[in-house]
Formats: sequence, C-alpha cells, structure tokens
Amino acid sequence: MMLNEDTAPPVLHPNAVIRYDETWQVSICTKCKIGVHGDTMKRHLTGKHHCYCKPDWSPILDALNGKPQPRSKDEFPRPRNGIAPIPDLKVWDGFACNLCSYLITSRDAMHSKHWKTHKDVVCRTEIFYRPVKVQVPNYLFGFTCYFFRS
Ligand SMILES: [Zn+2]
Ligand SMILES: [Zn+2]
Repeated sequence: MMLNEDTAPPVLHPNAVIRYDETWQVSICTKCKIGVHGDTMKRHLTGKHHCYCKPDWSPILDALNGKPQPRSKDEFPRPRNGIAPIPDLKVWDGFACNLCSYLITSRDAMHSKHWKTHKDVVCRTEIFYRPVKVQVPNYLFGFTCYFFRS
C-alpha cells in the first residue's frame, strides 16, 4: 500500500526537543533531561521551561498522538538496574546499598539515615554502600524511584 502525504502519520522532527524512546515507550525532553508523560506534554512545552507557541508544540503533539506512553507519573517504565543509561535522561551520581536495593543520590542520607535500617549488622562507621550512576524518570516529581546504571 502506498502512503501519500495526506495519510502518512506525522513524525517527530529529528531536531524536536522531544524524543520518543521506542524501547521504553516514553517521551523524553532532551533539553530538560526528563520523561514527560502523555497528558502533561502540552503543559511542559508551553510552560516556563520552553514557552512554546502553538506552531511549535502542535506538530510535536501530533507526532506523539497514538504512541503508547505513560498516562501518569506512576506509569513511567521501571527499567531494571545495571543496564546502560537511557539516552537523554539525566544521569546522577548516587549510592547503592550493598545489603538491600536502596538507592539515593545523597551520601549523607545513605550513611546517616539508611544505616539505621541495617544497624543490627553494620557498625556505625562501616561503608556498606557503593557509588553508582542513577537515573529517575522525572526528577521534578522527586526521587522516589531510582534506577541504577552500569
Ligand atoms: Zn523540557
Ligand atoms: Zn540497605
């Protein structure tokens, strides 16, 4: 079947600020380095980060229309730990607990607060964690779900 220009679905311009990640089925803002879930895309593009007018955001929304993507922040994909970083998503320095799956970007929070979780088996001065690279789907929503990266 031939597709002519009238029926071909619109595609994201290669220089668009939004990249749709086919692997994780999520839209990523390459400037802000965050995942943007479906219903907040227009707000993200018209808001203080970009100040887009309709001719700027409309083709992006058209190109993303119909693509599977998270509808809320809770639906962001949860890639397993240890894989290569997802392109365009900010990479943070963080720490991974050696005793459980806890991850955080603050060494102090790991050392002083998370230590209490393991105080039965770890002495106060012991280093029970290691430095890792960390990504989150969207840090503007907080750091509630980390993935650590190789
Ligand atoms: Zn952005
Ligand atoms: Zn732990």
